[in-house]
Amino acid sequence: MAIKVRNDKCVGCSKCVKECPFDAITVIGKLAIIGPKCTNCSKCIDACPFDAIENVEEEKTGAVDISLYHNVWVFAEQREGRFVNVSIELLGEGRKLADEIGCEVCAILCGDGMEGLVDELFEYGADKVYYADAPELRSYNTDAYTKVIYEAIMRHKPEVVLLGATHVGRDLGPCLAVQCGTGLTADCTKLDIDPEDKKLMQTRPAFGGNLMATILCPDHRPQMSTVRPGVMQKPERQEGRRGERIDLEVSFKDGDIRTHVLEVVKSLQERVSLTDAKVIVSGGHGLSSGGKTPEEGFALVKQLADCLGGVVGSSRAAVDAGWIDRSHQVGQTGTTVKPHLYIACGISGAIQHLAGMQTSDFIVAINKDKDAPIFEVADYGIVGDLYKVIPAIIGALGR
Ligand code: FAD
Ligand code: SF4
Ligand code: SF4
Repeated sequence: MAIKVRNDKCVGCSKCVKECPFDAITVIGKLAIIGPKCTNCSKCIDACPFDAIENVEEEKTGAVDISLYHNVWVFAEQREGRFVNVSIELLGEGRKLADEIGCEVCAILCGDGMEGLVDELFEYGADKVYYADAPELRSYNTDAYTKVIYEAIMRHKPEVVLLGATHVGRDLGPCLAVQCGTGLTADCTKLDIDPEDKKLMQTRPAFGGNLMATILCPDHRPQMSTVRPGVMQKPERQEGRRGERIDLEVSFKDGDIRTHVLEVVKSLQERVSLTDAKVIVSGGHGLSSGGKTPEEGFALVKQLADCLGGVVGSSRAAVDAGWIDRSHQVGQTGTTVKPHLYIACGISGAIQHLAGMQTSDFIVAINKDKDAPIFEVADYGIVGDLYKVIPAIIGALGR
């Protein structure tokens, strides 16, 4: 048995909300929505003066009626009024999935006075934008964003919800999945969808990156994934493209938001943006060899990166050794990158490093070991001492 609200009878009076001992009911507009906290105690049935709540038979599997769910949603993450790149990348990926199953791509945007961003989402491919506007949504807040997006999901029932695997997406995704009573596959690197049964095939590294696992969420909806930044292609912007904006009702009562952002303090530490870089020159454990220090090695790597207008990356071994800040780390537990040119210097090519850079357009590897695995993914491999090869390249570039 399962508790259901009849849309045709509910008037949104909220009497059932007060009666529920498990805080399982939310009223959005003129409709009560029963959430996954419901224990089937039936108290709300008697509380409703309009006979709008029923206890109905449900299949023993506990599976939800997946035929009610449509469309692919992308969480449009903005920071201070600018979208993070992965949200735009996900609109492109969402478009591909939606075309496979013949539905719409929708973005969900939360903010305070950010209507100006809606058109940008249409231009990157959103057919609809669900927009939630409130001062409480100005910057990311777990409780506020979870409540608003959860209510929108319960009301509009998307088939798929995609979020970037950013700090925000990694916090919000699990909260939403728990509230919705569905699954979440974190840190996906590939998505496919079955056009027949609409099952999302969510692929991510597993067992320390030694194999790729494809995960399904067959019985619950929405199907939810966080996706690593830099893995999917950013779609072309189509100036002037428009869609439908749907304004979400937003209301908070005392206790809904348990934490408040008092101040945002930006780190002064030098950080690098690897995801947008067109050229990356990375250094690994091999920088400390032949009597040279890692400082000398990274100075050489930086010199080459500067010559090519690029930025410095690194392997995890160099980060773990304390040679360079973690923001430079490329790989499974670092940043996934897709530059036009990736130069790996003194990096062996462990699978966890390759997971973060092997889709780069052009890969050059410099390693003194001719059997190093990095050469298997390299377009050009230079077998030699990086302390001889890099200065020779810089010299050839005329610097
Ligand atoms: P090494 O494997 O020690 O390779 C050094 C290379 O330098 C060697 O191939 C050597 O031949 C070469 N060399 C030495 N001297 C010279 C020289 N003078 N000139 C030219 N070549 C030289 N690693 C990552 O990079 N990113 C990740 O995100 C990441 N995530 C991980 C997650 C998990 C769960 C685990 C278990 C591991 C992860 N790792 C990651 C670590 C990974 O397994 C490797 O240990 C690491 O990538 C090795 O770094 P490296 O290639 O710099 O060092
Ligand atoms: Fe709807 Fe009945 Fe609940 Fe009122 S008490 S919100 S009519 S279900
Ligand atoms: Fe709340 Fe009980 Fe009604 Fe479920 S059946 S919504 S737990 S009052």
